[in-house]
Amino acid sequence: MNYFQITKCDMLNGDGIRVVLWVAGCSHHCKGCQNAYTWDANAGLPFTDDTKKELFEAIAQDYISGVTFSGGDPLFVSNRAVVAGLIREIKQQFPNKTIWLYTGFTYEELKSFPEIQPVLDDIDVIVDGKFVESLKDVDYKWAGSTNQRVLTREMRASLK
Ligand code: SF4
Repeated sequence: MNYFQITKCDMLNGDGIRVVLWVAGCSHHCKGCQNAYTWDANAGLPFTDDTKKELFEAIAQDYISGVTFSGGDPLFVSNRAVVAGLIREIKQQFPNKTIWLYTGFTYEELKSFPEIQPVLDDIDVIVDGKFVESLKDVDYKWAGSTNQRVLTREMRASLK
């Protein structure tokens, strides 16, 4: 998996002060995407053991509420296994921190991904769906267009 950066004091991509991992690779190619440079899974930098150490050290800070996976798409096919492994480890090491995940897939699509299924319940909030330019709403909290859902674990349970 490749990534672009780790934002260590972010308040725009989930509740509280968060660490955000921006990964490379996205197959959705939404019209009006503001991050088209992230579509190429080979762009950016390789996510190495040193990157993981940097990520975990950032999450460990007392003032950090949790981590957000964004991109690109953390659930781009070649990212799924690495992201699932990170989610599992983060939840084990930091059970009181929250995990948010942004993806262009709908919850109905992603819940059957075999790599992600075992860690689904470790993800506190999933913001799902492609960006739809005609539904863009700058006042819509935590997402870019109103088709996208901000799905807590509890909300997902009611969709099962
Ligand atoms: S899912 Fe996100 S990153 Fe991918 S094309 Fe759509 S808006 Fe861009």
